[in-house]
Amino acid sequence: LDHEALNILCMLLSPGDTMMGGDATVSSTPQYGAIQIVKSEEKHRFILDHEALERILLQDHIKDKHVVVVSVAGAFRKGKSFLLDFLLRYMNFTYIEEVPNGDWMGPNDVPLEGFSWRGGSERDTTGILMWSHVYLATLKSGEKAAVVLLDTQGTFDSESTVRDCATVFALSTMLSSIQIYNLSQNIQEDDLQHLQLFTEYGRLALADTGTKPFQRLQFLVRDWSFPYEADYGEEGGRKILERRLQISEKQHAELQSLREHIKSCFSEISCFLMPHPGLKVATNPKFDGRLKDIEPDFKESLSQLVPILLSPDNLLLKEISGVQVKAKDLVQYFKSYLNLFSGDELPEPKSMLVATAEANNLSAVAAAKELYSSLMDGVCGGNQPYLNINQLESQHLDFKKQALKQFTSTRKMGGEEFSNSYREKLELDIDEEYDKFKAHNESKNIFKAARTPAVFFAIAVV
Ligand code: GDP
Ligand code: MG
Repeated sequence: LDHEALNILCMLLSPGDTMMGGDATVSSTPQYGAIQIVKSEEKHRFILDHEALERILLQDHIKDKHVVVVSVAGAFRKGKSFLLDFLLRYMNFTYIEEVPNGDWMGPNDVPLEGFSWRGGSERDTTGILMWSHVYLATLKSGEKAAVVLLDTQGTFDSESTVRDCATVFALSTMLSSIQIYNLSQNIQEDDLQHLQLFTEYGRLALADTGTKPFQRLQFLVRDWSFPYEADYGEEGGRKILERRLQISEKQHAELQSLREHIKSCFSEISCFLMPHPGLKVATNPKFDGRLKDIEPDFKESLSQLVPILLSPDNLLLKEISGVQVKAKDLVQYFKSYLNLFSGDELPEPKSMLVATAEANNLSAVAAAKELYSSLMDGVCGGNQPYLNINQLESQHLDFKKQALKQFTSTRKMGGEEFSNSYREKLELDIDEEYDKFKAHNESKNIFKAARTPAVFFAIAVV
């Protein structure tokens, strides 16, 4: 069965209808679905299903409306599609059923459907999916806008797919008015590095207009487990984000420029901390998305988050170079942006990754060397007495081990193999340092020194 074709057919037969995520066997209710708009092909080429895209965006009642484009991006299997299905529930409730307030989350005992979120049986293709139903939402101004939801898929975890991930992330950032960057547990330095890499890729593709190229970036941290450090929700998110994006003189230049880059790309950046949804959601293979199986804390946070993204007051119209974009224009942007990425003019993002990974590893080498030297200084530095060679050697071995351990446990891009050569360099550097410490220590050996007449004389005089 060609589900895609069926979805499109249903959609065309009843464009204003309200149904989604119902029982697939009830044929009287048309099903909307996720349509793969951008697909990765062999050799890292991406193709656009422009016919499907046009069928969605060029419908008569949609094509001349300004668009709001909400996208969710981030590593694989971190609950992106699961979240999107709650966004769909909110959209249906608010903009189709038109109930402005109330319980949009739905009944307690109904499976969660929409974008497929359990993976498993599906092939994990890299690409962008669009919900086949475009919602018409009345904004605060009274204008009716077309709201488009995008899901992205990518793996982020091996070097061979960097180009694919960068393309998907960059494209979805370029095409959306809100990009939700979905992260697990925390905002780590390498999450920021990925973001820098991917947005830089997008910025390279866009002509420089002198303004911030992208609109709203919403960090969404899943499974936040330090509520005593920062509360769940928007306020805690602000606190963590401020801390992570803070620029200070003390930081390494790399870290400063990374932060400046991210701030210069988006006109608005916010963060939201989500609690863990509970073990059933995270581990039970039979879990099918029923609210009753989800922890109350998670649902509470969800009820705060979703309106922040999608309430009529908060919907953000898509702008490109300061101009609002209509649904029919979006088709064009999809086409031309995809062309940008399929051409050969753009640098291979892998080379940017390598450059970043190199910088990471070098700074980890420097930090580990510093650790070793300061530890050695404490036992055999300038103010310390002479140490016999066996003691010195055993201290050296112990501190070297500590320094190597620190290097290994520092998070670095580029993977283990890449950092092996830096580890070897660190070992050589440490051994070289050790030779210097040894020589210096030896110079304090009064008994050895006493064997030379000049020193003997000096001691005798004292
Ligand atoms: P995607 O690949 O990022 O789209 O991830 P999915 O939405 O397909 O979800 C992958 C798995 O994570 C599913 O089994 C969900 O039940 C589970 N999941 C969804 N949300 C969360 C969350 O906030 N925390 C955890 N730990 N698991 C989640
Ligand atoms: Mg998914």
